Amino acid sequence: MAPVVQLDSVSHTFGDGPSRKAVLRQVSLRVHSGELVILTGPSGSGKSTLLTLVGALRSVQQGSCLVLNHQLLQSSDDTRNVIRRQIGFIFQAHNLLPFLSARENIEMSAALSPDLPSPAQRRNRALALLDAVGLTPEQDQLPATLSGGQRQRVAIARALAHQPRLILADEPTAALDRAAGHTAVELLRQLARERGTPILLVTHDARILDVADRILRFEDGRIIT
Ligand code: ADP
Ligand code: MG
Repeated sequence: MAPVVQLDSVSHTFGDGPSRKAVLRQVSLRVHSGELVILTGPSGSGKSTLLTLVGALRSVQQGSCLVLNHQLLQSSDDTRNVIRRQIGFIFQAHNLLPFLSARENIEMSAALSPDLPSPAQRRNRALALLDAVGLTPEQDQLPATLSGGQRQRVAIARALAHQPRLILADEPTAALDRAAGHTAVELLRQLARERGTPILLVTHDARILDVADRILRFEDGRIIT
């Protein structure tokens, strides 16, 4: 089966003239169906930049970036939109909408799914995911009233609600203590594995490396292992 993500010699620079900075240098990597790949490395090494390219959140400048069988180099806005809708994103700051309850935040994401046309179906999807992440009792609470670990579990449920074909996570444990971070990532892995959904997770948190199927080390814009 073709990899879900296939990068070949992807390079990226920011700025021009004297302030020009090469952030990614000839990066090649693969992520296959069902895998959890962790990309780790020091702060500033280009991990988030790489993730935004794979997530079609930024234009690819150089190299081949195949995601879900679409080429992102010189892609159209339409192509990038199509890809983005098939990805579940999880960020360091959970990015939950503060005026919606935990359940409503998940329902909003479920609305992206073409297989859930009715509000009742979206509610049922949200309730099933809340159960899976252990937050049924908290379903009506606003994000501000939840702990950091609970918020990140809502963010995981939200990322899965539209049944994405790929999950991208950027420092998902950065705001959490060791136990909460581990719980969140284990949960993410378990839920993704049930559906065979691959995960590309970038982090400099060495405490969660043990959940990976494969670890890629990144330094100064290059993969060194
Ligand atoms: P990491 O996620 O590994 O910490 P980033 O991908 O965020 O690294 O950043 C890599 C480098 O690119 C850093 O030196 C950062 O300052 C720089 N950078 C990131 N985004 C931009 C931007 N939009 N404009 C200019 N420089 C940027
Ligand atoms: Mg980063």
